[in-house]
Parts: sequence; structure tokens; C-alpha cells
Amino acid sequence: MADALLIFKPDSAYRLAARAGIWGWLASERDWNVESLEWFQPPASLIESHYDFLQGRPFFPWLVDFMSALPVVVGRITASEESLKQMRHELGETQIAKSRPGSLRERYGIYGGLNCLHLSDAPETGAAEVKRWSDFVQLDQVKVRLDDSSAKPDHTYHLRSLATQVAGGIHTDLASQMIRELLAEECDLGGAELEALCRITLGALS
Ligand code: ADP
Ligand code: MG
Repeated sequence: MADALLIFKPDSAYRLAARAGIWGWLASERDWNVESLEWFQPPASLIESHYDFLQGRPFFPWLVDFMSALPVVVGRITASEESLKQMRHELGETQIAKSRPGSLRERYGIYGGLNCLHLSDAPETGAAEVKRWSDFVQLDQVKVRLDDSSAKPDHTYHLRSLATQVAGGIHTDLASQMIRELLAEECDLGGAELEALCRITLGALS
């Protein structure tokens, strides 16, 4: 059995319908076990080392902000190498525009690298990531129970359409404002936390 690190990134940790949909998939434990789950806000330095292979890419500063701006839901799963591969297939490709229809990222991801879920891509990376994150999070206990349904709306495809406009410089102000409003409807956040979610969402579009 391999260890793998799992993270509900902010775009799925707080968009409650998206979170419920993804949790419904994960909690089925079809070919894997959820060994731990908890809320944790990663320091920027942890994200910088977690994604060290992406340092220097133009989106790297955004990626660090995206992953460290708010608490996220972090966990460890165990799965066979084959099952982990299958889970990654079900997750879908990294960039939303390229994610396989029917995959989790195609279903719930908004745009670009705003792609909902981190999952280690192989047993070796899983072992390294679990080791690195274990210095910060225990990864041995399921401490949160997520709901597998939500009364909040799921605006994924509307958000994707608006995100495409903002990224293309079309109706930028209006589309950005609508993104803010739709995110607020999807989440239970207010104040500085909602502002942070809007910042990292809009930050993916520039
Ligand atoms: P994955 O999460 O599918 O394993 P990578 O490990 O290659 O993908 O990249 C880590 C994260 O960095 C991605 O999930 C995504 O959030 C972000 N990212 C990677 N490539 C891009 C890109 N070209 N544009 C925007 N964000 C990206
Ligand atoms: Mg990866």
C-alpha cells in the first residue's frame, strides 16, 4: 500500500457544493482508505518546498498565495499503486481547460490551475509529500467530517465562463464582480476570508 497526500485546495475547501461532490467521491473509499483529514493553513514556505519543481514558473507566486492564503483540508490516503493511478485518472488533468470530461477537475475546477484537489501522483512522491507535511500535520486521524451534500449552489460552469472572459480581457470589471458574487453564494465565508478566496481566484486569471 502506498501513502498519498491529499489537499482540498481553497477552491474546493470553501465552495460547499464542490466540496460535497468531491468528498462524496473520496468517502466512497472504493479502492483506497482515507487515513487522516484535518483543517490546516500551510505556511508559504511549506508550499514553496511542496511545489519546488515549479519554482521559476510565471504562476509560482500565485500558486504559493493560492495554497497558503486560507486553511485547507489536508489528509493522507492509502491505496495500491494501481488504485492511486486510477484516482489520478478520475481527478483529471492539471489544467482545467484540458481536464478530461467527467473528471473531478472538469466538473468542479474553475480555470487554469484552480483545480480543486491535490493528490500525490505516485507512491514515491506520496511518501515524500507525507513525510514533508508530517512535520506540520499529524496525518494519522480523521478529524473533520465533511458533508456529502450541500444546499449551496454550484456555479462552476458559470464561474468558468466568467473566468475565461477575465483571462481574455473581456468585460474584465463586470465579470470579476460577478465572480465575486457567485463565490460568495457558493461559500459560507465573509470578510477577510471571502476577500482572500476572491483574490486567489481572480489571481489565477491574470
Ligand atoms: P497536479 O496537481 O495535476 O499534480 P502539478 O504537480 O504539475 O499538477 O502542478 C501543481 C499545481 O500547480 C497544479 O495542481 C496547479 O494548481 C498549478 N499549476 C501547474 N501547472 C500550471 C499552469 N500551467 N498554470 C497554472 N497553474 C498550474
Ligand atoms: Mg503534482
